[in-house]
Amino acid sequence: MNIVLLGAPGAGKGTQAQRLVADYGVAHISTGDLLRAAVKARSELGVQAKGYMDAGQLVPDRLVIGLVKERLGQDDARRGFILDGFPRNTDQAVALDAAGVALDVALLVDVAPQVIVDRLSSRRTCRDCGYTAGAAADACPRCGGEMYQRDDDRPETIRRRRDADAGRPAP
Ligand code: ADP
Ligand code: ZN
Repeated sequence: MNIVLLGAPGAGKGTQAQRLVADYGVAHISTGDLLRAAVKARSELGVQAKGYMDAGQLVPDRLVIGLVKERLGQDDARRGFILDGFPRNTDQAVALDAAGVALDVALLVDVAPQVIVDRLSSRRTCRDCGYTAGAAADACPRCGGEMYQRDDDRPETIRRRRDADAGRPAP
């Protein structure tokens, strides 16, 4: 089963993906997670991506598309996958199509904009494993790691991210 998960930043794609992974045993391929891992590892791609991510802008297509293709080529993705956060614009969708990737279903997680701002402002992320929870959690429920607020989870940046995704220029 090859699934594409669509929805605005903060709609809850990650949470839905975790459930689908549990139900279908497919690989979870989140471009946000892949990019954050690259930033943490200080790989060349990570260094290039970091500035865009901190500013709430999309990382350039050439970087993201390469990353996704490489990930889709790994063994576990052959049993099926959930693409979370990709494609994010028409060029990425065209690139996915051109790579000959067959999709079974596209799911849209549709949530009101104000609900998203409220949710993301109180979201905390585990520094060690990437798990997300509300502001009340001071240790990661999954691994005990430290929970922090992502730079791009501040209300200002959230609005900019949403507008970037809608294809509008950042103010
Ligand atoms: P959210 O879904 O909460 O916006 P993600 O974890 O999906 O966050 O992405 C975090 C950041 O990574 C984005 O703001 C963007 O800079 C970058 N990013 C993720 N996926 C893509 C993509 N498909 N194309 C370009 N940039 C991306
Ligand atoms: Zn953790």
